[in-house]
Amino acid sequence: MGSTAPCGCEKRSEARSHDELVDLIVREVSLVLKAGAAGRKPASGAGPRTIPLGVSNRHIHLTHATFHLLFGAEAAFENLRPLYQPGEFASAHTLTIVGPKLRSIPGVRILGPLRTYDQVEVSLTDAVFLGIDPPVANSGTLGAASPLTLVGPRGSVYLERCAIIASRHIHMTNADAARLGVSEGDLCRVRVAGVKSTVFENVLVRTNDGWLLQIHLDTDDANAANVRDETHVEFLGRM
Ligand SMILES: [Zn+2]
Repeated sequence: MGSTAPCGCEKRSEARSHDELVDLIVREVSLVLKAGAAGRKPASGAGPRTIPLGVSNRHIHLTHATFHLLFGAEAAFENLRPLYQPGEFASAHTLTIVGPKLRSIPGVRILGPLRTYDQVEVSLTDAVFLGIDPPVANSGTLGAASPLTLVGPRGSVYLERCAIIASRHIHMTNADAARLGVSEGDLCRVRVAGVKSTVFENVLVRTNDGWLLQIHLDTDDANAANVRDETHVEFLGRM
């Protein structure tokens, strides 16, 4: 009866979709060409504006003094494996972190090199479990940080202000920043594609010519967008 009608409709529909797609591509390409000719940036996503993603699991930064207090005066700070950013590495050492309710998370890795301050970066999920309420802060900004006790094999230490939830941030060189039209301290937006595609805002630009271009999201953000390391995000521009 009407068995041929759906088939015909589908074909016509496919033909229209194809034409529409071609029209769309022509319009997009001409927009990009016009923007380029006028010396403006092309529409977001039109150029090579992708950034490799690194997912930051909970981790610890320590001073030399705190490292030796927890691991002993004779302990050597050992490099387990290099991280993506030049000069940074996962050390061979882990600690147990303990919150005020005596809930603890074992096996939290210390990242190297050793620093001039002690800092524990956790996700909000970790913070709720530990019973602390840390601020979202830039690395090294510890004025409002939360307390934790760090437990090592040779000692433990209570740190009144050490725990933060690290701000979303992008590491880049000044050349990357110029190419992307941003500068140190700017807040940006990025899009993660996929089945749980997500736009992240308030992503801080951090510049240093020794860094590789990379965005750092914590595990809560990455899990929300259903992504792991070795994905790329699309840079959408300044907020
Ligand atoms: Zn980072």
